[in-house]
Amino acid sequence: MTDGATFAIQPNANPIPASERAVRLENPGFGTVFTDHMAMIRYQAEKGWHDAQVTARGPLSLDPASAVLHYAQEIFEGMKAYRTPAGDAVLFRPDANAARFRESARRMAMPELPDELFVGAVEALVNIDRDWIPAVEGGSLYLRPFMFASEVFLGVKPSSEYLFLVIASSVGAYFKGGKDAVTVWVSSDYTRAAPGGTGAAKCGGNYAAGLIAQAQASENGCDQVVFLDAVERRYVEELGGMNIFFVFDDGSMLTPPLGTVLPGITRASVMTMARDKGVEVREQLYSMEDWRTDAASGRLKEVFACGTAAVITAIGEVRGTEHGFTIGNGGTGPVTRALRDELTGIQRGTRPDPYGWVKKV
Ligand code: PMP
Repeated sequence: MTDGATFAIQPNANPIPASERAVRLENPGFGTVFTDHMAMIRYQAEKGWHDAQVTARGPLSLDPASAVLHYAQEIFEGMKAYRTPAGDAVLFRPDANAARFRESARRMAMPELPDELFVGAVEALVNIDRDWIPAVEGGSLYLRPFMFASEVFLGVKPSSEYLFLVIASSVGAYFKGGKDAVTVWVSSDYTRAAPGGTGAAKCGGNYAAGLIAQAQASENGCDQVVFLDAVERRYVEELGGMNIFFVFDDGSMLTPPLGTVLPGITRASVMTMARDKGVEVREQLYSMEDWRTDAASGRLKEVFACGTAAVITAIGEVRGTEHGFTIGNGGTGPVTRALRDELTGIQRGTRPDPYGWVKKV
């Protein structure tokens, strides 16, 4: 199954010509260059998962009463395929994305897609669209598996029909201009996730609710928003689309605990790599007061954001209605740099993969 063998493959009869593809891959940016195909699997309560296929990428036809358009039963994933120096296409920890997708589905009362179908769909798409992995420095093929409620019914209840799809986008750096360090905005007006809510699920609604906070961040000249906890409005949780790590002068690291934050696969990988080097990594609450005080005293040496899209990016400056301070000299510190080099080396096949994280397609 994982070789995509059970997917009916119907190659795109009108793929984008190679010369045009080359132009688009020169400077792909993020999320605007799409490949020739998509993978799709249908679900119906009576039939289960069926009709797995890879076809030409194109518009979907949806009834206006499709449940997702009204009650937002939708979840997604984000992962990347990289090209190794040997020319292979590889995925980074696809099983972890498959497992998180099942967890998100469970939270949103959706059927769980078996891991082998999730990974099989991703592999089948990467396989047919492998020429879309950009050769530019830092380039990759961003994969977007997603699932939504497609039953035509206006009652509020879990849908009995779903569509699972995977699309792919050739991407370069996430932050414009491949910034050295980013500036973040601490949101005091909005929170992202409350206890018992959907913070740990990767559902579209979480991102819709965060857009206004991200817009405020942009208005204030910041790259990303930082959300605080919804109860005390005091503890750092995560960024709009990344987890966060703090590095202290004694060499130890801290990241906020799971519960209301997204369990990032990059976050888990960073913890494994750091602990392997003997670094103490605490999953612990960290308040805004501590962040400011520790930055001022010099106890806090580095802060970085991490996620599939942004990889590992230093946070140089913190702003907010009540905040304005710099971390260290505002650039990328040595711990951030070393972790980023190690992680990207494993992902791109330029360093050994002691954890067995990389999977050849
Ligand atoms: N937090 C949020 C809210 C995210 O959207 C993401 C991106 N998926 C992350 C953290 C990082 O997760 P990952 O390392 O699995 O990409």
